[in-house]
Amino acid sequence: MPWPGKQGLLSLGVLTIALTACATEQTQPASAKPTTIAASTSAPLQPQTNGDFVSWRDGLLQQARQQGISDKTLAQAGPFIRLNEKVVALDQQQPEFTQTFWSYLNKRVSTLRIQAGKLQSLRHRALLDRIAAQSGVPAEILAAFWGLETNYGNYLGDFSTLEALSTLAFDPRRSDFFRRELLAALTIIDQGHVTAGQMKGSWAGAVGQMQFMPSVFLKHARDADGDGKADLWNSAADALSSAAAFLQASGWQKDQPWAQEVRLPAGFDYAQADGHLARLPRDWQQLGVTPVQGDWQASTSPVTLILPAGHQGPAFALYANFQVIKRWNRSNNYALSVSLLADQLAGRSELSVRPPVNERPWSRDWIQQLQQRLNALGYDAGTVDGLFGKQSAQALRQFQRQQGLPADGYPDETSLRQLQVSNP
Ligand code: CA
Repeated sequence: MPWPGKQGLLSLGVLTIALTACATEQTQPASAKPTTIAASTSAPLQPQTNGDFVSWRDGLLQQARQQGISDKTLAQAGPFIRLNEKVVALDQQQPEFTQTFWSYLNKRVSTLRIQAGKLQSLRHRALLDRIAAQSGVPAEILAAFWGLETNYGNYLGDFSTLEALSTLAFDPRRSDFFRRELLAALTIIDQGHVTAGQMKGSWAGAVGQMQFMPSVFLKHARDADGDGKADLWNSAADALSSAAAFLQASGWQKDQPWAQEVRLPAGFDYAQADGHLARLPRDWQQLGVTPVQGDWQASTSPVTLILPAGHQGPAFALYANFQVIKRWNRSNNYALSVSLLADQLAGRSELSVRPPVNERPWSRDWIQQLQQRLNALGYDAGTVDGLFGKQSAQALRQFQRQQGLPADGYPDETSLRQLQVSNP
């Protein structure tokens, strides 16, 4: 989902939601979910909490009234300002595994999603081309976001948005953020785009075919089919135009590339492929970095490199528009999925590297073992939290360098053997 504001979401602690709460991710079979969230209920949490909630709710409605939201809207919305236990359970869920690039990509850019995307692109050809011509955002990029967020408008999420946001706003951990979103949701209803009962979406409060947070909706939603409403739930024209408006406002550059697979020369210092060091394509070329297909794309700005699956996986050159894609979702894996799905929808070639046959999932336990081992050996992997982040990668890279291994900071089999950590 596209997030309001540029940065700072990490400090709000909403990263987990940003990475996991797309409506399409709720399409997994019920059996894959913990049993604690199997029951759907909107019952009050517990008496004590409920008492607090009633006064919280009164305060919220008062604030909404002060912001000019009509009594009529508040009367309509009132019954939906309540707690939803399923949202609480989903919010408290700890991911058991860190998703690797390959597992993330295989799940999202599947053959089915590519096929469905080609069909939908054909079906909506005229519309997509018109929006692309107006906005400068290519049709395949718009279709790729649409596919990743809601399977091209086929799964929008069925949580009451007011319920979801009330539940998340009542929780003191991120109450400011979600209270703003809740007030934005009430404003959307007040403006007549949707009724309180029809306003549905993901458990994290994202709505419509593009999974906009309500504040993003207020800024960027468009009425493209001329019925007077920005109906991001039922109108593909409205939804796709709104996505284009968001990307345009985020700085999308017309006729500029986003990502390109490249090949790194033997002996390349992988620390340069950390996504930060930026050089012009001709300077990378001089260092022996070459596109897998064709030439470097014409770019007016410098380009960074990443190796999302280590040196044995694909390498990518990231152009300025890739950073615009990340304004929608800050995960590199998400942005690469958009890029690669778009390439597939436009009929460009697949990645030159195939996924490993038996990639083992990265469990928390296993990453913890790895972090403990690195710390014990004097490499600073930071807090042992079971999440493989920047600091873990940095520590692993130092270890690899000392051992004379390819120093890509990626936990491959060879490094793990040397560290005597086994992934069960
Ligand atoms: Ca409309």
